[in-house]
Amino acid sequence: MPELPEVETIRRDLADLVVGKMISHLVVADRRALEGFGPDGSRRRRVDPVAFEGRLKGRRVSGVGRRGKYLLLHLDDGASLLVHLRMTGRLVWGPPDLRARVQILFDDESNVLSFCDTRRFGEVWIAEDWREDPSIKALGPEPLEPLDADEWSRGLRRSSAKIQAALLDQKRMAGLGNIYVTEALWRAGIRPARRARTLRESDTNILLGHIRDVLQEGILHRGVSFRDYRDAQGNKGRAGERLAVYGKAGKPCPRCRATLQGAKVNGRGTVFCPRCQK
Ligand SMILES: [Zn+2]
Repeated sequence: MPELPEVETIRRDLADLVVGKMISHLVVADRRALEGFGPDGSRRRRVDPVAFEGRLKGRRVSGVGRRGKYLLLHLDDGASLLVHLRMTGRLVWGPPDLRARVQILFDDESNVLSFCDTRRFGEVWIAEDWREDPSIKALGPEPLEPLDADEWSRGLRRSSAKIQAALLDQKRMAGLGNIYVTEALWRAGIRPARRARTLRESDTNILLGHIRDVLQEGILHRGVSFRDYRDAQGNKGRAGERLAVYGKAGKPCPRCRATLQGAKVNGRGTVFCPRCQK
């Protein structure tokens, strides 16, 4: 699943590619991409694809933002198109793609912005004010922006959850997923299944530093492409080659040479070193 660095890479690409362009029309091959669905499989919203297109037609893209793992295409009338890629979504700028669930076409008849998504969990919707969108309002702080580290640390140390699960909770911090959490916990020497409340303040401060480092390195190397993730021009990221432990169960720990172990924490896969992560 794309995490903060992957979504940020797409955001930066799109900022160069689509800002200033006017949306001329939409091709909706799968209206469920606009409607989304909740955990019970029910529709999140009722959408008429014609009205949806009508709302976007003639609007210019004024900027591209990101909040957590959400991409925000800001429009010149103050509304925004929100995109969550979920498991396998891609937002690719290029020639029309027949596999796309939704395609956005622009008035200069340049390339098309295609939302492709083999597993079809991703969503695209319009928010009149993105800051008031319930999905956005539920998010915790952005890890790469200034945040109240003491408050974040206190909240984490009050949690009875395992640290891996606590960090994946988007209300606690926005944008983290399995890959970068696994890497940050290894760097910090903390076991993924350890209870967050057993950490000391010094542990959480060190952890926050490592979270920021792994995310920044992920952005620098344009994201991790194990399976589906591609940048906005369809290229793979190189950050996967630099991961120390994620996906490397059975291999030696780069720090102490003990054998890395795969594990599940609350159903989510992780890898850790049984010797140097406590
Ligand atoms: Zn080790």
